[in-house]
Amino acid sequence: MINRRDFLKRLLSSAAPVVGSCIAIGCGAGQGLLVREPYKPIFGSRVAGGSAQAAPAPVRPASWNIPADWRPSGAERRWRFIVIHHSATTWGSADEFDRIHRARGWDELGYHFVIGNGSGAGDGEVQIGPRWFKQKHGAHCKVADHPEYNDVGIGVCLVGNFNDSRPTEAQMRALASLVRFLTERYRIPRSQIYGHGQLKATDCPGRHFDYVDLWRRL
Ligand SMILES: [Zn+2]
Repeated sequence: MINRRDFLKRLLSSAAPVVGSCIAIGCGAGQGLLVREPYKPIFGSRVAGGSAQAAPAPVRPASWNIPADWRPSGAERRWRFIVIHHSATTWGSADEFDRIHRARGWDELGYHFVIGNGSGAGDGEVQIGPRWFKQKHGAHCKVADHPEYNDVGIGVCLVGNFNDSRPTEAQMRALASLVRFLTERYRIPRSQIYGHGQLKATDCPGRHFDYVDLWRRL
């Protein structure tokens, strides 16, 4: 049994190097906004009077069905965070972003998951990046003095520019399903689900991304 501090120390000392930062096409180019209440969880502060206990009871659809390949085979990383991004593009897919990121000299797609919007990938399709299969650290949320957001943070990118539009209903449904799976499997508390802009000065995942909507779906 090790305490939390020792665990973190051990984790950080053995962690793989962090590559890149926010790496969607325009995702890191913060203009205007916004570190909103930095380092504070989204949900606790954004839901009026909110706490995990006060949230509406989750409704698990009868058709709840987790794709087998969301569950990695082999050793799993001790994931502690989920960080939500938008691509800041109107189109895209895991393959396309992977190619773009590699062309820029990054190791591979920095996110673990990409959720399509019907342009480049299916609407609400959850695409799994190579990092997830390898259970490799993320390269999507580089924050000074906080290597843990990449080291043990799962990066989920929704295709779209949510400064201009909202995610599709299918994307939100898929995101909620994925987030719920991840939080249950890795025992990630809701207080450790973030939008990128909660952790650093970027407007990602866009001003129209509705955190409360996600919260209610979980
Ligand atoms: Zn981002």
